[in-house]
Amino acid sequence: MKIGVVALQGDVSEHLEAIEKILGKDSSVAVRNRKDLETISGLIIPGGESTTISELMQKAEIFDEVRKLGEQGFPIYGTCAGLILLAKQGDEQVKKTSQKLLGLMDTRINRNAFGRQRESFEIVLDIGSVKKFTCVFIRAPAIVETFGKCKTLAKFENYIVAAKQDNLFATAFHPELTDDLRVHRYFIEEIV
Ligand code: GLN
Repeated sequence: MKIGVVALQGDVSEHLEAIEKILGKDSSVAVRNRKDLETISGLIIPGGESTTISELMQKAEIFDEVRKLGEQGFPIYGTCAGLILLAKQGDEQVKKTSQKLLGLMDTRINRNAFGRQRESFEIVLDIGSVKKFTCVFIRAPAIVETFGKCKTLAKFENYIVAAKQDNLFATAFHPELTDDLRVHRYFIEEIV
C-alpha cells in the first residue's frame, strides 16, 4: 500500500518519512500531478501556507480531483494548512483572500486561531484513542464548529484541534515534527 503527500509546498518530507517508517520502503508518494493520485490508497495534505497550497493544487490540476476523491470516500488527512483546506466553512480571512477550500469536512475553521498570540507551542493531548501525544502547533488554525457528520477527537482551549468524518481526518497540529508515529498510524490503520 502507498500513501501520498501533496508535495507542492509545506513540510512534505517529514510526512513521507513517517509513512516509510510505518509501511516500509517505497510506500510514500510525493503527489505533484493527477497521475500520482492513481497509485495511492490515502492522501496527506501537509502544513504550510493554505492559500499557496490551494493555488498550487489548482495549477497542478489536482484540486478538483482531490475534492472528487474525498467526496467518493477516499481517505484524506489534513494537517494544519490541510485542516483549513478540508473545511466547508472558512473565516473572514478566507473570505477576504477569496481562498478556495476543498469543502469536504463539516467544519468551520479559524485560519490563525493560535497564530497571533503564540506563533508556536507544544502541548500534550489525548487524540481520541491516541493518548498523551505531544502536539506541535505552528501558526495553527483550529476548528471552531463542527456540524453534520464530523466528530471531535481533541480540544484545546475551547477549540477543536483534531476531528474525523468517515474517510476524512484533520489535526491543527503537526505530528510529523515529532518522532511519535501514532497519529500517522491512526490515519493509516483506522481511516485508510
Ligand atoms: N495558519 C496557516 C495558514 O493559514 C497554516 C499554518 C501551518 O500550516 N503551519 O495557512
